[in-house]
Amino acid sequence: MRPYLLAENNWKTIKDASFDVVVLPWGACEAHNYHLPYGTDIIEAEEIAAEAARLAWEQGAKITVLPAIPFGVNTGQHDVLLDMNMNPSTQFVVLRDVIETLNRQGIYKLIILNSHGGNDFKTMIRELGLKYPNMFLCSCDWFRSIDQKEFFVNKDDHAGEMETSLMMYLRPHLVRPLSEAGDGKAKKFRFKAIQEGWAWAERKWMQVTQDTGVGDPRQASAEKGEKYYRAVTQKVAQFFVEVAKTNKTDFYV
Ligand SMILES: [Zn+2]
Repeated sequence: MRPYLLAENNWKTIKDASFDVVVLPWGACEAHNYHLPYGTDIIEAEEIAAEAARLAWEQGAKITVLPAIPFGVNTGQHDVLLDMNMNPSTQFVVLRDVIETLNRQGIYKLIILNSHGGNDFKTMIRELGLKYPNMFLCSCDWFRSIDQKEFFVNKDDHAGEMETSLMMYLRPHLVRPLSEAGDGKAKKFRFKAIQEGWAWAERKWMQVTQDTGVGDPRQASAEKGEKYYRAVTQKVAQFFVEVAKTNKTDFYV
C-alpha cells in the first residue's frame, strides 16, 4: 500500500490523516499510432503522478493522488474509432465536483497533472477559482516540464519518440515492435500565424496524420524513456513539494 495513492488506502489510514495537496491525474483514451495502446496517456498520468508523489512524500509533503480521469478532450479525433471524447464542458463539471469535495473538507490545494495535449484547464481554473476563492487550483503539463531535445532526436507531439520511449520503459509488454509503427508523419497548417504559435485552430486529426501519430517513434528506446521519466518525475515532485509546503499567504515573491 502506497500512502500517497488514495485508491490504495483505507478508512483506517485516512480517517485521522491530513493532506495539504491533492493531485488529480487527467489522461485521455485515444489511438496512439499502430504500436502504443489507447491507454497511453492514462498510464503516463498515473505512473508520473505516483512516482512524483512518492518522491514528494519522502520529502515530507502531505500529498495524495486521486485515481486518474481516463477521458480527455478528443473533439478533433471524433472520426478515430473509439477515441473517447469528454467535452470541455463535461470536464468542467467533473472538476467542479472534485473541487467542491476538497473545499468542503478544507483541503485547499489541487494540482491537475495533465497528460493530454487536448486538455486545457486554464479557463476552467479561472472560472472555478472565482467560485472557490479559498482553493489554489493549478494545472501542470508534465510533458512540457523538461525540454525533450535533451533526451530525444525527434520531437514528439503524439505517440512519437518520447511517448514510445516512456511506454517501452513503463509497459514494454503493451508496445508493439517498432517495425510495426507508422512514421508519425503529420501535416501542418499552411498558415504562418498558426505555425508561429500566435494563432490557434484545432487540427482535424485524420486530415493531418495517416497512422494517428504526430512525431516519428522509430528511434525510441526504453533507456531513453527511463532517463526522461526520472528527470520529469523529479521536476514534478519538486513542484509538488513546493506547493505542499508553501503557505497560501506566501505564494508570491
Ligand atoms: Zn499520448
